[in-house]
Amino acid sequence: MGAARPLEYEVFRKASRREPCPVCGKTDWCGFNSYLCSCMRVSEGAFKHIILSNGQVAHLHRLQPGRVIPDKERENVFSREAPLASIDTRDRVYRHFLRLLELYPRHKEELMRRGLSVEDIKRNGYKSIPEHVNPWIICKKLIHSGLDLAGIPGFYRAGSKYGGSYWTFNSYPGYFIPIRDTKGRIQALQRRMDDIRNGKYMLFSGHSDRGGCSCGTPAHVARPTEIKDQRVWITEGQLKADIAAAYLDAVVIGAQGATSWKPVVPVVMELGAKEVVIAYDRDQETNKEVARGKRMLVAELKKLGITVREAIWRARSKEEKGIDDALVAGLDIRVI
Ligand SMILES: [Zn+2]
Repeated sequence: MGAARPLEYEVFRKASRREPCPVCGKTDWCGFNSYLCSCMRVSEGAFKHIILSNGQVAHLHRLQPGRVIPDKERENVFSREAPLASIDTRDRVYRHFLRLLELYPRHKEELMRRGLSVEDIKRNGYKSIPEHVNPWIICKKLIHSGLDLAGIPGFYRAGSKYGGSYWTFNSYPGYFIPIRDTKGRIQALQRRMDDIRNGKYMLFSGHSDRGGCSCGTPAHVARPTEIKDQRVWITEGQLKADIAAAYLDAVVIGAQGATSWKPVVPVVMELGAKEVVIAYDRDQETNKEVARGKRMLVAELKKLGITVREAIWRARSKEEKGIDDALVAGLDIRVI
């Protein structure tokens, strides 16, 4: 008798050998409880797709159709993420934002060590994450210039101790790498972190629980000063694409990672490419996820009637596994 008890919120368990993912059957990466599964691999049949702060997409599946999802879970799962602003708006805000920042000498030196010229560095628009100015002051400047930070990935609202909230962003040291679309507009920002313990590269994105939003895993379009090779090259990583474009004199698409191949396909189409050259890291033979991502990308491009080739080179060391390092080292790159 009496009122129905509120539904218990059940914590998610990580897929393991003992308890594999109920949707894909794999023993890692996914999470679930008795009525919901957040599968990282199977999108078919999911009722919602969530972009995580690291850019990966989690697919939510109901394990017990008809079961009411508890409120607490509803908050977590159906978080009220700010809708992403249009690409023109994002481009305008990011351009203003980067103009307020500078590139510290140590970052400039690092980029030059990677093989970029001073002109490339200037043209591509890398800027250091500010260390001597409070992030909220920069946000205030942007707002004073009439810009709205809602829906711009990377910015979020922090609670003020006097009540209310204000716009800010994370300022862990490192530098920004603009992620551009086919028209050169800045659609998102990648960050090369100084402290690489949590990963070398982190997207400027997320905090959806605090008025921020995710940028997804957009593919970057790197352009050389002059296009001499009409083929479109595809690699993993935005900075790698920038460096490769400068050396190949070709348009290079930088996928967020080999597993984030989906956003690459519409970019290839928009560029009207007839022939593409895939130049993923040479460790793909030993990396199953990379190999799988590449296979799926190749299959998708071939379906669209695009000629797909692959660049190979003999890496003499771990430092030459990327196309950028191979080009800078002057290795012989063959297209097969
Ligand atoms: Zn799964």
